[in-house]
Amino acid sequence: MRGLLESVIENNRGFAMDGKVASYIPLLSKADPNHLGICVTTLDGKEYTAGDSSVKFTMQSISKVISLMVAILDNGTKNVFSRVGMEPTGDGFNSIVNLETKNYNKPFNPMINAGAIVTSSLIEGSSAEEKIDKILSFTRKITGNDSININEEIYLSEKETGDRNRALAYFMKGNKSLRGDVEEVLEVYFKQCSIDVCCSDISRIGAMLANDGVLPWSGERVISREVSRIVKTIMVTCGMYDESGEFAVHIGIPSKSGVGGGIMASVPKRMGIGVYGPSLDEKGNSIAGIKMLQELSRELDLSIF
Ligand code: GLN
Repeated sequence: MRGLLESVIENNRGFAMDGKVASYIPLLSKADPNHLGICVTTLDGKEYTAGDSSVKFTMQSISKVISLMVAILDNGTKNVFSRVGMEPTGDGFNSIVNLETKNYNKPFNPMINAGAIVTSSLIEGSSAEEKIDKILSFTRKITGNDSININEEIYLSEKETGDRNRALAYFMKGNKSLRGDVEEVLEVYFKQCSIDVCCSDISRIGAMLANDGVLPWSGERVISREVSRIVKTIMVTCGMYDESGEFAVHIGIPSKSGVGGGIMASVPKRMGIGVYGPSLDEKGNSIAGIKMLQELSRELDLSIF
């Protein structure tokens, strides 16, 4: 496996040149576009890494999977999905258009920004701090990594430039799809996006989901089989935004990307995979990360379809 991962890294290095590191959150632009890392966590708890697998990056939208799980643990599936839909949009991750033109009164799905802002608002707690602490401790548990924390600099950078997310949130507050204090919800959202991880952290999250909600390294159940099934399904249909269809055809693995350059992938009953490459394609997904997953999927026959 290690040899395979090494060659996956080498074969796909060149693709980074075809994309761009995110810069709309200014501090993200400091990432080295040549970094490329991969980690595989198998369901017997073994871990294999190659490339820049220990380089840290912020979770960004991968955190939407975590806030969805925490919101479901707090409120139950039915209540969460009465406030956010399950349908892919075919639009960009930060699109606002459907909030006004489609008469749903709730954002389409929890993987786009609008939907994730609503799921974060559903997490129980008396302050933003309490809510983010809950997200952090759940993240530490499902990564088996107690040192996981927020990257304060990225958080501040995102907060300073997050007007598009502010617009989404205030619009939703105006049409009653978002309740509570908008600035508090945004603080939780910006902070969850700024959680620092490396490839093995996200690979373990993928492995937990692949193992139907049970941590492979300890046997502890953290979410029900049913919730794990729902989360993986939404990752297939919405996890790569408006590239989810093409990704399903070429790779066929439930996955969630973030503009930090990470992709968390979960191959049911087999393994979790974490890839990192901060150079992004036009849809905001790691360009070399997708290519690496494509090669691995082909080599190990990982497509679920
Ligand atoms: N924090 C980012 C944002 O809200 C997350 C987007 C992403 O990773 N696609 O814009």
